[in-house]
Amino acid sequence: MADQECIFCRILTGELPSERVDEDERTVSFMDISPATAGHALVIPRAHARNLLEISAEDLSAVALAAQRLARRVCERLGADGVNLINSCGQHAWQTVFHFHVHVIPRYADDPLRLPWTPRPGDPQEIARVAQRLR
Ligand code: 5GP
Ligand code: ZN
Repeated sequence: MADQECIFCRILTGELPSERVDEDERTVSFMDISPATAGHALVIPRAHARNLLEISAEDLSAVALAAQRLARRVCERLGADGVNLINSCGQHAWQTVFHFHVHVIPRYADDPLRLPWTPRPGDPQEIARVAQRLR
């Protein structure tokens, strides 16, 4: 059930804009607004679930498969050398948006990223260009 207060539910309905790169019956994937590296995307279930403890087994499986699809794509199309999949469950584990999501973070041999990263807004045009390569 959609949650009016949840920004990811509002992205799902189209009320808020996003750069979608993948979708299926159970999941939607879109670019993170503050990318840790080029190609950083989020995979979410269509059904609102607060976190890892609440998501259904079927949706968790579907999200995992969608994350694998995107991981392959960032390697093939963006030339990523590796990928971090990250899920934060709970405020004390860095979760800031309480609709389950898996971060797909492409890693490049020479990237300076250290985890946890400090989110900084990305350039919308650059994010849109990368999204186009991932669709
Ligand atoms: P968390 O901190 O919960 O693990 O991850 C939430 C992620 O959602 C952050 O990386 C943040 O940049 C991203 N985010 C927050 N608000 C928006 C938004 O309105 N649009 C998009 N595309 N990403 C968002
Ligand atoms: Zn939601």
